Formats: sequence, C-alpha cells, structure tokens
Amino acid sequence: MNKSLLRDIPKVDDLIRSSALAYLFEDMPRATAIEAIREELEALRRAVFSGDIEAMPSQKSIIENAYERAKLKARPSLRGVINGTGVVLHTNLGRACIPAEAVAAIVNAARGYSTLEYDVASGSRGERYSHIEKLLCSLTGAESAMAVNNNAAAVLLVLSALTSGGEVIVSRGELVEIGGSFRVPEIMESCGAKLKEVGTTNKTHISDYENAITEQTRAIMKVHTSNYRIVGFTETVSRQAMAETAHKNGLVFIEDLGSGSLVDLNLFGIREEPTVLDPVRAGADVVSFSGDKLLGGPQAGIIIGKKKYIDILKKHPLTRAMRIDKLTLAALEATLRCYAENRQLEAIPTLRMLACSEQELKEKAERLAAMLNESGIRAEAVAVEDQVGGGSVPMQLLKAYAVAVYTDKLTPEQLEKKLRLSEPPIIGRIDHDRYLLHVRTIEQAQFECIASAACAAVAEG
Ligand SMILES: *Cc1c(COP(=O)(O)O)cnc(C)c1O
Repeated sequence: MNKSLLRDIPKVDDLIRSSALAYLFEDMPRATAIEAIREELEALRRAVFSGDIEAMPSQKSIIENAYERAKLKARPSLRGVINGTGVVLHTNLGRACIPAEAVAAIVNAARGYSTLEYDVASGSRGERYSHIEKLLCSLTGAESAMAVNNNAAAVLLVLSALTSGGEVIVSRGELVEIGGSFRVPEIMESCGAKLKEVGTTNKTHISDYENAITEQTRAIMKVHTSNYRIVGFTETVSRQAMAETAHKNGLVFIEDLGSGSLVDLNLFGIREEPTVLDPVRAGADVVSFSGDKLLGGPQAGIIIGKKKYIDILKKHPLTRAMRIDKLTLAALEATLRCYAENRQLEAIPTLRMLACSEQELKEKAERLAAMLNESGIRAEAVAVEDQVGGGSVPMQLLKAYAVAVYTDKLTPEQLEKKLRLSEPPIIGRIDHDRYLLHVRTIEQAQFECIASAACAAVAEG
C-alpha cells in the first residue's frame, strides 16, 4: 500500500466547497452530492489499499466520477432494456410488449377519472368487466367473461369458487409446474380441493376419467402443458370427450389454457398450440389464460365460459383480492380491439415478431451488422433459432438471424457484460464463444443505440 497516496486523498469538505462541484451538481440535491462524494472517496481509499491506482486523480475528475455515480443512483430501477435474446415472451424482461394503442389507453386511464365502474347511460354504478366482456365473448364465442390479476390468480379463483371441498380429476401427464412455484397439485390443495390424478405420465384414456368419478367429484380439469411436451407413445383424451363425460355426470369441465392465443399459430409455422376457441367449441365450462403471453396484451388472467359459472366467480370474495386494475383493463380493452378490428398482425408487437420471416430477419441482421461495420466493429449476420418464451411452445424453435459481434480487445464475456451494463442495458447471449444479438426482438430504432454502445465498449477496451 502506498501511504503517501492515501494522504493525497482530498477531504470531503474541500471537495464540497469547490466550484466544480457546485457547477456539476447544480441539478441535484446537496445531500445527494455529499453522499456521492463520500462514496467516491471511499472507493478511492479501497483502490489505494488494494494497489489498484498509482497516482491520485485530480479533484475535478473525482467530482466528475462522483457525479456519474449520483446519476446512476438517480435513474429508475425498473427501466427499459434492449432484448437481444430472441425470446419473444421473455418473462424476466417483462413478457409481451403491448400495442401502441394499449399504451395510449393506459396513459388516458391513469391521467384522469374514467368510466371504470360507472355506467354513463344510466348515471349509476357500472361493472368493471363491462369494458372487455363483450369483446371477449365475440372473439371467443363464450357466453361470459371477466379478468383478474394474472392466470395463476385465475386458476386459484376458479378452483376455489367451483371445486372447494370436492375432488378434481386431472391427467397425470398434465400436473405441471409453471415458472417458480406455480404447481397444479399445490394450487389445488390451497383451494381446499382434492386432486385426483388419473392415467399415466404418457397416456390417459377417457375410461380413466370415468372410473375416477365419485360422489365427491366436482370437476374435470385440463391443464395445457405449456412448458414441456411428453413425446413418443402418448395418448390424451379429446376436449369434447372430457366435456361430455363431465356434463353426463353433473361436473364442471375446466381448462387452464396457459398462453391462450386468439390466432392460429400455424400461420407462423408453429404447430399444435390450441387457440382459445378450441376449448370453448368443445364445450368447456370455464377456460382461463394469460393476458401477456401469446395474446400480446398486459399481465392479466382472463376467464371465459358459461355465464352460470362466471357469475359465481364475479361474486366470490377472492375476486376482490385479485381485482384487475384500471390501467391493465384499459390496455386489455385496447389489445382486444386490435383483434376485433382484425388489425392484430400489424398492431400487436408479439404477433408481429412471431410473424417475421427468416428472410426479413436475415435482412434486418445484415442492416445491423452493416451499421456496426461502419462504426469500425467486426460483425456479421448468422443463422440462429429463436424461442417463443413465456413457457409457450417449448419444442418449436423459430428459424432466425442474429448479429455476431467480434472484437480483439474483449472476450465475448467481457463484451456481454459491458453491453449489459450500458444504458439502456443491452441483453445479448453467448453461443459457441460468440456474442450474439438476436434481431427478432430488437427494434430498428434501437440499432444506433447498439452501435454507439458497442463502440464505447470497444474503445474502453
Ligand atoms: C403461464 C401459465 C400459468 C400462469 O399464468 P400467469 O399469467 O403467468 O400467472 C398458468 N398455467 C399455465 C398452463 C401457464 O402456461
């Protein structure tokens, strides 16, 4: 350790009185400035102790570093990032990007008073779900609809209100855990319902359901195996057969659909993902799905089905605890209107990203690579595969393109870290010792930002 260097560290009071500080920290509270100076000096002290510096920086540069430190602290914690992972519904990055009109609807509802629970025609209290119910019914063919905070809440509500104290029959192949701690068996237990597993992991027959029905049975439930597939010799029972068996025995047929797409994903070359219309047509009584997965809207748990059951759900005390807020409701209505007006493929970013062809992605990657090349950074378009994400369609990868960025000065890991720590953070991935930015989830308008961040990263070395 260099003792004279330690003595050279300026005093907090000297720095606080300096004119450079007054000038730089003009737009910040004095307490923030003092705290930042203290932290900067502490960092310097540690650097001297560890032998990381050989000369004391000037007072001006210490103040400038403190200012950068204060600015970093003042920025919001929840902020935008550039998603270069190619995972369209990235749960950690906020799942669906909502349509522009949904953003406008949120701003409008947030800013002032609204018709949230007010019926203008009669001048009296209205229903919170009225803004989305008709839209959902006409889009899905269901009799009735409502929404709660998210699909996990929707499942909890449906089971609590319709099956509590009884048994629910579920196929063993559908006992899923979805992200973290959402497990069907545990959810059921917490709702006061008893799970009755039938069939085996790979095969379930209609007779398995029939034989499991007792006096205690309340419902037959189907859970969409969103995030995994059992492949090989498998057999599942059709929804129609499940609905018929349920109704013959006076039971409710419930489906947790998970992603809940309103468009046929075959359009994008994605096979075997049901649409919300499938269970409704097959006679399901209650169907729930997420608002922010393939629907491409805000986080919500949408519940559709027979009026008789939805009415029970609307009155259940849990509904109040899981109540959908006005901002979400505004965004959800606007998103559903895109479908109702048949503008979904242009207006909904999730669908737009999924619809991007391999050729379009190749050209997009080449444009980004060219922009990086012009800034003196080596980059090229490479073929990759993207994921839908959000636990949806696990087995099917989408043909895609990424930009591989190469530098002699940094390892791919160092480049990844530098870009992740830039503002806004750029989230890429490393594959086969290459740093990759998948372009499907990046907007053209973000290209310049990526180029300048990459330049800065390389220049710093
Ligand atoms: C994603 C998912 C859920 C949970 O939905 P959230 O909206 O994230 O709460 C429940 N069930 C299935 C089958 C899912 O895929």
